[in-house]
Amino acid sequence: MKRALAIFMLALVGEGHSVIHWLESHLLACPFKKLTGIDCPGCGLQRSIVSLLKGDIVASFKFYPPTFSILILLIFALFHLKFDFKHGALIIKTLYILITVIIIINYIYKVYHQQLF
Ligand SMILES: [Zn+2]
Repeated sequence: MKRALAIFMLALVGEGHSVIHWLESHLLACPFKKLTGIDCPGCGLQRSIVSLLKGDIVASFKFYPPTFSILILLIFALFHLKFDFKHGALIIKTLYILITVIIIINYIYKVYHQQLF
């Protein structure tokens, strides 16, 4: 099992560039933006993740500031499922609220600075 995982990881690292290129050329179109012509509160997440995979942290943050918090939440939730931390559920709820606030602030910023188009 460990050997299969190691081979998979090596293949992923070796093919990382082509995976990123594939992701870049297959981004999903936002239905809200397609319908209304303006960004939704989630627009930028895919581009942010692709930038993060490329190692460009600044571009990733500029595309979608909540990405880091979302990744922290996902990683923490996985560890909580495995280790069942004492206050894990409370921390997850708090992170969820924090992420919601960051998404709302980011959207208000985009509206205020007319970056929705
Ligand atoms: Zn969108």
